[in-house]
Amino acid sequence: MSEIESADCKEFFDRLYEFVDGDQGALDQKQLSILEQHAVECSHCADAADVERHLRQLLRSACMNRAPEGLRAKLHARLEEISISDDQVSFSSSETVVYLRDN
Ligand SMILES: [Zn+2]
Repeated sequence: MSEIESADCKEFFDRLYEFVDGDQGALDQKQLSILEQHAVECSHCADAADVERHLRQLLRSACMNRAPEGLRAKLHARLEEISISDDQVSFSSSETVVYLRDN
């Protein structure tokens, strides 16, 4: 059996957080490059990665220090909920930002 050479959307979302983190402990360089390649080819997953990066910037910012863990869990649940439904990935970064502000 050959190694996995490409990622599908499910795999991308499974590894989205490690991918955004660039966590070398979780993903090796080959896996990272495979996911990067998927993001190049798949605008849905590229958008999701952008949103996740944006959320992390918000969560790191001073104003978000109050309740990061609970909020992170909520955001991740929300991200997964709206990211994977059938084969259609419906995603709205503005919707996520509104959700964040509501909390
Ligand atoms: Zn994808």
